[in-house]
Amino acid sequence: MVTALFTHASSLDHETPPGHPERVARYEAVMQALDADRFDALDRREAAVGDRAEILRCHPEDYIAGIEAAIPAKGLRSLDPDTHVSAGSLEPALRGVGGICAAVDAVLAGEVGNAFVAMRPPGHHAETARSMGFCLFGNAAIAAKRALDHHGLARVAVLDFDVHHGNGTQDLLWDEPRAFFASSHQMPLYPGTGDASETGASGNVMNVPLAPGSGGAEMRRAWGDVILPAVRSFAPELIIISAGFDADAADPLAQLEWTTEDFAWVTRAICETAAQVAGGRVVSTLEGGYDLQALAAGVAAHVDGLMEFSQ
Ligand SMILES: [Zn+2]
Repeated sequence: MVTALFTHASSLDHETPPGHPERVARYEAVMQALDADRFDALDRREAAVGDRAEILRCHPEDYIAGIEAAIPAKGLRSLDPDTHVSAGSLEPALRGVGGICAAVDAVLAGEVGNAFVAMRPPGHHAETARSMGFCLFGNAAIAAKRALDHHGLARVAVLDFDVHHGNGTQDLLWDEPRAFFASSHQMPLYPGTGDASETGASGNVMNVPLAPGSGGAEMRRAWGDVILPAVRSFAPELIIISAGFDADAADPLAQLEWTTEDFAWVTRAICETAAQVAGGRVVSTLEGGYDLQALAAGVAAHVDGLMEFSQ
């Protein structure tokens, strides 16, 4: 089988203020990286606009309406000091939802081995009724709910290696015993949550904070010795990855000092676990990553890993 890539050029229409790290150039860098010859085998698909019903599994109607109402006719509007919307923000946000739901459908149907969704804005900081951290809708949690509620899966894992804690995904899945959410992240760092003591309503959340400067060796211990054994015990039928590349040493927002090879390693380790317990079924979605070269290299290494395991 192959790896599917879900994207849409409307990601270029979500504008942020000058100097903002979550910027249009990130999407351009990712697309340029995935244009390389070695990615010719990707099954490239358009991310469709997601159904409102998918979002409603995670966010209330008045929250969605509030996002829609905040979209300005022109220029920018701030939802909080970090999170902004422009006239073109709603379409890529909805296509981020639609893309990841279609990726879940394609992987569960056996059309493709696994899938990567490259859209912006990202999603893992969006809480039930609060946008934050550049995020509007909780794409990874929405995808988990689709797999559980629409496809009837019994167990889904969401694994988050973005350098920031996925507080939104944690919030959306906190009391969902059919979902296991695990995150490694730098601490202390925005958003401040993600202590190891936060374990979910039914022990279904695992947080592994990492110290600034702790590097790839500590990351490999966290994933190899702690997180992935717990994932194997949970035995998910699908693994969803929140793939952020801001743990890279070059990233301006954090100090975890990972290398491109570390992103390749964690990708392979997750895919190996998926092969053992989940029939290899993996859907990954782009979260952060703010140094353009590191982002491009990290995404390329990540998609290389996915392709290696979808064969
Ligand atoms: Zn991040």
